[in-house]
Amino acid sequence: MDIFPEATNAEETLDPPDWADVGELSHRILDDAIAYLEDVRNRPVWCEMPAEVRAFFGAPLPRSPAPAADVYDDVARNVMPYPMGNIHPRFWSWYMGSSNFTGALGDFLAAIQGSNLGGGNHAAALMDSQVVNWMKEMVGFPVSASGTLVSGGSMANIIGLTVARNVKAGVDVRERGVGAMPKPLRYYASDQVHSCHRKAVEALGLGNQALRRIQTDAGLRIDIAALKAAIAEDREAGFRPACVIGTAGTVNAGAVDDLRALASVAAEEDLWFHVDGCIGALIAIAPKNRSLVAGIEQADSIALDPHKWLHAPFEAGCALVRDASQHRNTFAVTPEYLESTPRGLASGEWLHDYGLQTSRGFRALKIWMALKEHGVEKFGRLIDQNIAQARHLTRLIEAEPALELMAPTTINIVSFRHRLDGASEKKLKAFNTEIMLRLQEEGIAALSDTTVQGRHCLRVAIANHRTRRDDLDLLVAEMLRLGREIAATATLM
Ligand SMILES: *Cc1c(COP(=O)(O)O)cnc(C)c1O
Repeated sequence: MDIFPEATNAEETLDPPDWADVGELSHRILDDAIAYLEDVRNRPVWCEMPAEVRAFFGAPLPRSPAPAADVYDDVARNVMPYPMGNIHPRFWSWYMGSSNFTGALGDFLAAIQGSNLGGGNHAAALMDSQVVNWMKEMVGFPVSASGTLVSGGSMANIIGLTVARNVKAGVDVRERGVGAMPKPLRYYASDQVHSCHRKAVEALGLGNQALRRIQTDAGLRIDIAALKAAIAEDREAGFRPACVIGTAGTVNAGAVDDLRALASVAAEEDLWFHVDGCIGALIAIAPKNRSLVAGIEQADSIALDPHKWLHAPFEAGCALVRDASQHRNTFAVTPEYLESTPRGLASGEWLHDYGLQTSRGFRALKIWMALKEHGVEKFGRLIDQNIAQARHLTRLIEAEPALELMAPTTINIVSFRHRLDGASEKKLKAFNTEIMLRLQEEGIAALSDTTVQGRHCLRVAIANHRTRRDDLDLLVAEMLRLGREIAATATLM
C-alpha cells in the first residue's frame, strides 16, 4: 500500500532531469577554470567593462527556464573577463589575498554538501572547530581559548569588541542595554585604526566618540605615553576606560603597534586588550618576521583574516577570544527550537552561540584543504616572501630619484609617490592619481592610494602568492614611463 499516494514523478525539483548532462557541463567549467588561473599573468589586471556588459546586468527577473549551459555561457562572457583582479600577480590595491585553486574546490565541495554550520553533530562542524583550533595555535593562544569563523575581519573585530563591552560594562548589558551602564565606556586605538572599528562602536551603541584615536609616532605606531595620558584624562572625566585595540599591521602603511607595551598598559589599567590582526596576526607563522608581532599571544581577543594572508577565497575571517566562557556568555541564547539532544543530529555544539549569525556557511573547508595541501610552514614562508618583496620595492624607490618613499616600510605595504619638480601637494596628488589610474586602465598593475600624515601617496600592498620581484621592477619602470608621458602632455599639470 502506498502511504503517500500523492508523491509522483510529476513533482518538481531543482535536480537536473539527466545527471549526465550536468557532468559534461561541469567538466567544461572545470577545464575553463584551470585555464583561467593558468593564464592569469597574461591578462590585464583589470579592465573597464564595455557598455553591453553593463547593460547585461540590467536584464529583468528571468521567468522561464534556460539551459544551464546557456547560463554558464552568460557568465563566461560577462563576468569572468571582468574581475576585480586580486588573483593577478600585479594586484596590490587595498588589502586582500589572491585566492587559490584548492580553496576554490573547497568552496565548491562545501556548497555540494550544503551543510549549515550553525552547529550540530556532523563532520563539517568538527572541521569548523578544528580550523579555529589551528588558528589559535598559529597565534600562540591557549587550547582553552575559543573562536569562530566569520565573514571577514570587520565581523571578527565586532565579535572581540562586543565581548569587551559586555565584560567591562559594569551591568548586565545584554539584559539592560548600554543606557544602564554606570559610566560610558571608552575604547582606544591609534589614529591609523581601520574604519571597521568605527562601525563596530557605533553598532554596539557606544558611539563613535567612545573610540579615542591616539596619536602615532614617526613609525605610525600608537604613542604609548599619549595613550596613558588619554586613559587618565578619561577616568578623571568620569568615563570607564574599557578596551585598547592594538593594530598588528595598519591598513595605511603596515605599522605594527608595540603589542607587548599595549598588553602591559591593558594589565595595569584593567582594560580589555583586543588586537586587530587582520593584516599582521599571521606574521606569527612567518619564521623570519614573527618577532614583529610578539605580544599578540597576550591579547584577550584577536581578529584575523584567512582571506588575506592565507589566500582563502572570500569570505573567511576569524575571531579568537582567550576566555571561552566570556565569549559564549556574550552571544549564547538557546531558543526552544534549538535545544540540544543527548544523541543524534542536535547533540553537537551549537556554533552559532559564538557570534551573531544563526545559519553559517562551511567556511572551514576551503581553509582546511589549502592548509593540508601546503602545510602551515609554506604559508609562513609566503608571508616572509611578500615582506622581502616589499623591501625590494622600497630599495628600488630609494634608489630612484624620481620616486619618494612616504612612510617607513615595516611589513608588506609600501607608501610612496612620483615626484614632480616644484609642484604643489595638490598637483602632486593629481599627477600621482593619474599615474595610478593609467596603470589600472592599461591593465599593468592595480595600486591604491591613501593619505599618510596629511600627504597623498600611492600604496602597494603585497599580499599575493603570485607576485614576483620582476613584477615590482616592471611597476617602477612603468611608473617612470607614465610619469614622463603625463608630465609632458597632461593639461591637469
Ligand atoms: C582588512 C582589514 C579589516 C577589515 O577586514 P575585512 O576582512 O575586509 O572585513 C580590518 N582591519 C584591518 C587592519 C584590515 O586590514
